[in-house]
Amino acid sequence: MGKKYRVGILGATGTVGQRFIQLLQGHQQFEITALAASDRSAGKPYAEACAWKLTGSIPENVREIAVMPIEPPLDCDIVFSSLPSTVARETEEAFARAGYPVISNSSSYRMDEDVPLLIPEINADHLGLLETQRQKRGFSKGFIVTNPNCAVMSFAPPLAALHRKFGIESVVVTTMQAISGAGYPGVSSMDITDNVLPYIAGEEPKVETEAQKILGTFANASVEKADFSVSAQCFRVNVLDGHTASVRVDLKQTATLEDVVEAMTEFPSLSLHSSPEKFIEFTDEPSRPQPRLDRDNGKGMTITVGRVFPDNVFDYRFVALSHNTVRGAAGSAILNAELLIDKGII
Ligand code: NAP
Repeated sequence: MGKKYRVGILGATGTVGQRFIQLLQGHQQFEITALAASDRSAGKPYAEACAWKLTGSIPENVREIAVMPIEPPLDCDIVFSSLPSTVARETEEAFARAGYPVISNSSSYRMDEDVPLLIPEINADHLGLLETQRQKRGFSKGFIVTNPNCAVMSFAPPLAALHRKFGIESVVVTTMQAISGAGYPGVSSMDITDNVLPYIAGEEPKVETEAQKILGTFANASVEKADFSVSAQCFRVNVLDGHTASVRVDLKQTATLEDVVEAMTEFPSLSLHSSPEKFIEFTDEPSRPQPRLDRDNGKGMTITVGRVFPDNVFDYRFVALSHNTVRGAAGSAILNAELLIDKGII
């Protein structure tokens, strides 16, 4: 077995932080050596600071770790960040400046021109931005990479498959986002029970802009964004985990239904430790994908796509689903770290 990297988690007591801890159990390349959260938690053993909300109990290897404040130094080689965007920007920069690779879930740096917004299967070449980032920000060893918004993660992969083959003209997307996407305690049960909320603060601008950067072209040390437009409406629905996106798309080139399905199903996965066997799983079951039945496909790392049909107004429509705290958050960040090691950047 190769070297094990020591990882620290910022926001370790939160919804995504807990998922990091769960997914890192038994990982071949990473061991958790540092946990950090707010002043409310700092100084306490993790088991005391954290209201654990995942199945099973708090893993033994983290129970006694003393939670640290979110400032460098931390006893680790790599920092995973799942901090609220209010504190992420300043904190992630401080860690990168102190020499740590920072692999972030937060929205704070996603759209900065010198920061890769990564989906390893789609745009690993965007890691070329790190050279620019280091020069521009004066980082010596450290850097920041980000993964997409959890709702964008559900539909960017099928869009990537279509964009590569046929080009995308425009997209209309309606997201149905799980309760866990709001963190803990999130939305009040009085608000979400028997209800659909047609507003998630700050979400629609992210869903309307991130895919174009992800599907952009890396050249001359920068990313030229893909030139399609996205119109989005984002809803919070009474589902615990799993974001669903209803998508309508116009293509630049003509494609048959078979072409469209083939483009999605043949999009390759990678062979990193956390890579699912299938990056995109296509289903022709009329009533799928469904969050409860499909969010755990590929251990939560696969995007499930169904309901692919020609549309009366756009060229095609489909429904895409991903697990928001696994592929949409902690799982993606871990995959990004595996990619960085694979590329020799860490
Ligand atoms: P959460 O459940 O509210 O957890 C927030 C974490 O950050 C907790 O560990 C909390 O520590 C810590 N924290 C809060 N305020 C802090 C402060 N002022 N200083 C230091 N630490 C502070 O939120 P979450 O859902 O895990 O989301 C974390 C980040 O990931 C957000 O940026 C979110 O947008 C992003 N994200 C979330 C999802 C998802 O599905 N939930 C998906 C993708 C991305 P204490 O316990 O000590 O308060």
